[in-house]
Amino acid sequence: MSEECIFCKIAKGDIPADKILETETLLAFKDVNPVAPTHVLIIPREHISTLNHVKSEKSGIAGEMLMAAKEVAQKTGVAETGYRTIINTNRQAGQEIFHLHMHVIGGRPLEKMG
Ligand code: 5GP
Ligand code: ZN
Repeated sequence: MSEECIFCKIAKGDIPADKILETETLLAFKDVNPVAPTHVLIIPREHISTLNHVKSEKSGIAGEMLMAAKEVAQKTGVAETGYRTIINTNRQAGQEIFHLHMHVIGGRPLEKMG
């Protein structure tokens, strides 16, 4: 737990969030400022600031996040139509909250990247 981290506070239940999925290690909840009909964030309960900080012995969390994305897509009805999974790492990539999170975005046609 990082004192000032908003996602740690959501994980602890100190700040409310619209939860989609909860496991022992992960939490998925709706993004407060959605860019598409489905916009869900998947976070580890443990505070890890960026993907760069995932230690190799904890790499299982990455697979768990992807499997959670699949489940979120099924639950929100975009598994077949399509969805995108994104992890922004550090400032140039647009990371604003420094608690590891994966975006799951879908429910409308998405622009090609790059
Ligand atoms: P980043 O830009 O760091 O990859 O994404 C951070 C995301 O967190 C943004 O899409 C933003 O809308 C979302 N966000 C920021 N604060 C909150 C919050 O308090 N609650 C929820 N549900 N989402 C948040
Ligand atoms: Zn945190």
